[in-house]
Amino acid sequence: MKAIALFSGGLDSTLAMKLIIDQGIEVIACNINTGFGSTKDRLSHMKNMCEQVGAEFRSVDIRDEYIREVLFTPKYGYGKNFNPCIDCHGKMFEVAKRKMEEWGASFLISGEVLGQRPMSQNSESLQKVLNLSNCEGLLLRPLSAQALEPTIPELEGWVDRDKLENIVGRNRDRQMELAESFGLKDYEAPGGGCLLTDEKFSNKIRDFIAHDTMSVEDIPTLKYGRQLRLPEGAKFIIGRNAEDNAVLEAIVNPKYVHIHTELFGPHSLISHNASETDKMLAAKLMLAYCKPGFEGEQTLMFGEESLTTVSDLTRNDAAKYFI
Ligand code: SF4
Repeated sequence: MKAIALFSGGLDSTLAMKLIIDQGIEVIACNINTGFGSTKDRLSHMKNMCEQVGAEFRSVDIRDEYIREVLFTPKYGYGKNFNPCIDCHGKMFEVAKRKMEEWGASFLISGEVLGQRPMSQNSESLQKVLNLSNCEGLLLRPLSAQALEPTIPELEGWVDRDKLENIVGRNRDRQMELAESFGLKDYEAPGGGCLLTDEKFSNKIRDFIAHDTMSVEDIPTLKYGRQLRLPEGAKFIIGRNAEDNAVLEAIVNPKYVHIHTELFGPHSLISHNASETDKMLAAKLMLAYCKPGFEGEQTLMFGEESLTTVSDLTRNDAAKYFI
């Protein structure tokens, strides 16, 4: 008997897997990559949690499908920011259900706890997720199982319902107790969860779709660097640190050209169709972010095209264009 767990790296999904593994069932931890996870690397954390409970880790990339079918047209709307949580969960379970046959699994599990999050984990929302994903009966939530209707794995006797939990609400005492009894270590996930719940990141998406149509290649251009919208409509992105610069430098996206200078400074991108005025402004702002100590005219390369100007703006001048 094999089950697929929707796995985020968090404590609850880890505990849910452990409860099922302890019943002699093989569990594949399925992490769904929507593209909008934090920029922090959580991979090693996720693998570590899986190792501790004896689950196999697999990641599934749904970025394209997510942009086309979930992000901009959620049936159940958004949370506080650009987070379409109910539809997002529904999509994740739909994907996991698709994987069931391919991976030879008989049911699905998740770490959701009834009543833990007011909007996305009340009983109505949990039911909406089932309706969206067509998983009725196949999705078992081990942490709240005894407070929910029995599912197929329980009714068929694949899983002993009596050994599952009855956790309801926001109090996490029982989860802590379980973590301790299982001897779990380092279960605090590294900072930063889903960027769609972040207000500033949500504003970047709103700005982007006011000017353009999003595709998978655009995701890193939203996640890294200072984001500016220049007066004549060009998008301008300036790396903030070595990590941003490395990611921005590697971007291959026909919507942008890379800006190069021989000075010591950040890596930048600008819309390929930027006006001459926006390009001149971007050049001056880019110089403002370069290491001081140079004088006179500087030549910057916008892709193959060169532009020469002096540095007569400051970083403060950039602030009014921040998204
Ligand atoms: S927080 Fe993000 S990943 Fe989680 S359900 Fe909501 S939209 Fe999806």
